[in-house]
Amino acid sequence: MTTTLSTTNHRSDIVGLTYVYPVLSRRAGGLSIGINFNTNNACNWRCIYCQVPNLTIGSAPPIDFPLLEQELRGFLDEVLNGDFYQRFQVDMDKRVIKDIAIAGNGEPTSLQEFAAAVALIGRIATELGIFPASKYILITNGSLIHQSRVQEGLRNLSGYGGEVWFKFDSATDAGRKLINRSSQSVQAALTNLSLSAQLCTTKLQTCVFSYQGQGWTAGERQAYLDALETIRAGTPVRQVMLYTLARTSAQPEADQLEKASAETLNELADAVRSLGFDVSVSI
Ligand code: SF4
Repeated sequence: MTTTLSTTNHRSDIVGLTYVYPVLSRRAGGLSIGINFNTNNACNWRCIYCQVPNLTIGSAPPIDFPLLEQELRGFLDEVLNGDFYQRFQVDMDKRVIKDIAIAGNGEPTSLQEFAAAVALIGRIATELGIFPASKYILITNGSLIHQSRVQEGLRNLSGYGGEVWFKFDSATDAGRKLINRSSQSVQAALTNLSLSAQLCTTKLQTCVFSYQGQGWTAGERQAYLDALETIRAGTPVRQVMLYTLARTSAQPEADQLEKASAETLNELADAVRSLGFDVSVSI
């Protein structure tokens, strides 16, 4: 059967693998290869917009390294030398590997063997000529970066020219509790962000939306801009990615969430730019 990959077809198990999945990324304009360590759908947060079905609180299970290696080598070989693009009817102009992104169905840094897994993926992708032309990305909530085993992983990521996309949805403790269901303080998040930026190129990712008919209050907005000023002054972080809900949340709050308007995002982007950041907006 022929199946078409689309930009909405994220986190698909379309190729039937455990750790590796293709995403035809609107953001990247080509093929993004996702790596999912959280095969048990476990995260230490429960963001109310999270699209992971049957999300549970917890950590990634122990990884099967031989299987990860076999899947990644096999999949890359199919893309580079096989008929992957034809089989999934990928447009000619999108037949390029834009990135390998460690993301998946939970917090990837909760994997105990995180550092070794980052190194393995980097080694395979370099050996096959994917890096350094394609990006190596870690998408994380950043909450575990104070742990030395995670820091070792970020060093490995940096060694392959990688970058960290650090989730920062609210700069108030109450907002983080509400949106991310995280009890980690803003202060702890900023400390982890600073650690991340010392070890690896780090960008901020912020999801903007309304919950129960309420967007950011004036206080939330000001706290966010104040935090960015602190970040600008104390860290080398210079890029902010603003986005809104692209797919339906799999959490009980789903029907109380609403996308932010283009106007809201663009207005916030201008305010963030005026603080000296490069800002991208994804609507
Ligand atoms: S951090 Fe990511 S995986 Fe975890 S609950 Fe939030 S959106 Fe879902």
